[in-house]
Amino acid sequence: MIFTIDFIRDTFERFNRLLFQSSLPAPRFALSRSRQNFGMLRLKSIRTITGKTKKSDYTLACSVMYELTREEAEDVVIHEMIHYYIELYGLRDTSTHGQLFRAMMDMINAAYHRHITITAPDKPLTAEAKAPSGRLHFVFLADIEGMGMGYAAVASTRVLYMARRLHLIPRIRSWRLFASYSPALDNVPHVRSFKFYDAPPELVREIENKGEELGLQGDRIVPKKR
Ligand SMILES: [Zn+2]
Repeated sequence: MIFTIDFIRDTFERFNRLLFQSSLPAPRFALSRSRQNFGMLRLKSIRTITGKTKKSDYTLACSVMYELTREEAEDVVIHEMIHYYIELYGLRDTSTHGQLFRAMMDMINAAYHRHITITAPDKPLTAEAKAPSGRLHFVFLADIEGMGMGYAAVASTRVLYMARRLHLIPRIRSWRLFASYSPALDNVPHVRSFKFYDAPPELVREIENKGEELGLQGDRIVPKKR
């Protein structure tokens, strides 16, 4: 799944009740495009004339650049909630993820069977993250009798038309549709009809790994549920 504001808010509210006795006032919730952190707690820190530090404007932001499981995404929100708790109540820790942070994290992990960490696991990037500047392509991969794997990169205006008629072509045993920003597709021929080219294995892998699989649902092209 990919973070949404609703998911962050719901997760915050649920674990605020369960883990923090509802002691955390709702911060702002935001989505980020960070490639460094899954989650981040932002705040304003102002030194007053009396020399005290006043913290305010807390924002809990999560990155839309990564594909996480629901459990992992919840753990990211809880991780940031521990930071928030420590900041909000002015508790002292030995470092950003110091003894206090780790003690709270370990306690929650043990008591609630969570897997909160202080290191970001290696996770796949979302389609959005993989799309820096390239062109969007729609490409069919088909298992074709007497040919093997074939591909047809098609104009976006023809995707639905073709998806609805591919089953009528006898030699096509099965097909899949992908949206991809892969530069490997920038220079291949784009077709407007049922013309499939022989698909080299590297191209198939590129499309499968970096593309977003789509499917036909009624009269619409929709992302395939993972
Ligand atoms: Zn942290």
